[in-house]
Amino acid sequence: MHYSSYIELSQKALEKNIRFLRKRIGKSSLFSSVVKGNAYGHNIGDFVPLAVRCGIRHFSVFSVEEAFAAHEHLSHDCHLMIMGYIDPEDLEWAISKGISFYVFDCGRLEAAVSRARSMGMKARIHLELETGLNRTGLEGQELERAAEIIIRNRDWVTVEAACTHFAGAESIANFWRINNQIKRFSEAVSRLERQGLSIPKKHTACSAAALRYPETIMDMVRFGIAQYGYWPSMETRIQYLLERQEDGKGPGQNPLRAVLTWKSRIMSVREVKTGEYVGYGTIYQTSRTQRIATVPIGYSHGFARSLSNLGYVLVHGRRCPVAGTVSMNATTIDVSHVHDARAGDEVVVVGRQGKNEITIGSFSDMSRNLNYEVLVRIPSEIPRVIVD
Ligand SMILES: *Cc1c(COP(=O)(O)O)cnc(C)c1O
Repeated sequence: MHYSSYIELSQKALEKNIRFLRKRIGKSSLFSSVVKGNAYGHNIGDFVPLAVRCGIRHFSVFSVEEAFAAHEHLSHDCHLMIMGYIDPEDLEWAISKGISFYVFDCGRLEAAVSRARSMGMKARIHLELETGLNRTGLEGQELERAAEIIIRNRDWVTVEAACTHFAGAESIANFWRINNQIKRFSEAVSRLERQGLSIPKKHTACSAAALRYPETIMDMVRFGIAQYGYWPSMETRIQYLLERQEDGKGPGQNPLRAVLTWKSRIMSVREVKTGEYVGYGTIYQTSRTQRIATVPIGYSHGFARSLSNLGYVLVHGRRCPVAGTVSMNATTIDVSHVHDARAGDEVVVVGRQGKNEITIGSFSDMSRNLNYEVLVRIPSEIPRVIVD
């Protein structure tokens, strides 16, 4: 069967991103590949084996179901970490597979200890410390109590690390908040150590923190967005360019390259006379005789309806505007300037074709964290193909 659109994942692009990011964090910090949100829309079942081929051995997910999806694609020397949701009933599965998980309250800690004890195994935990995000995390007396529980149950729990998550390291607007979190993190770790708990490793950084606050790199970085080839925000990209300038270097090439390209094909091309409307309603009227092509993707595939009359796609390496409304399964584009465009020709919805590129950022209105949201909304049913 042939699909109306498909997604290519580029191994070369991923290798390039990993090389750049590894160089930034240095040899003593571990690269954890964050594959929550269906690997940011790349598809966990396709992305994880690709990342393993590129040398990644540590993966982070949010929930137990994502852990389940990732687990079957890991090689035996890989490690998996759950940063968020696990139902108490599933702790046993996680412990039995040696999967580590965040502990952010004493309830979960006690549940983990009791499961581990009844299994005769050790739970591998990461102590999540509350430092200012105010979502999940241990602090104050609860943190002290957690340390006591761990010390009393050393046979059933291994503390692998202490960790925290920043509240928006990609924006300079949060500069003071992030610095405060960094300080609170190190104070909380010292308090734990004074209580007699040894903290073998520390990790705090996501992509933006690793790129902007080098002191947050520590023993491991949890790389999400950047490994897929996107800057967490325009600011992070500008700061990188300024750094290069300070080092006396030119802007150079973008060191990050999008792993994902979303492609479709022209379904049909027709000539539409001057003054006719195209598609539903009256929002697009031809101003001369135009060649209009129909592409079999629409808002049911995550090609947002808000791209009506606004979006662009690439045909033969040339930008072609969306002409009229995006409908559920089809979108009309103007190919008047691409004279030899015909049915069956490749259409790039997101990604590079020839010298042109449709970036995820330009794919819809620019707004903060849009990269993330657009990516995870790409339907998982669209087939992914690994390319070199
Ligand atoms: C999503 C997430 C990350 C990765 O964030 P990016 O900005 O995509 O690099 C890291 N840590 C935690 C706890 C996360 O939830």
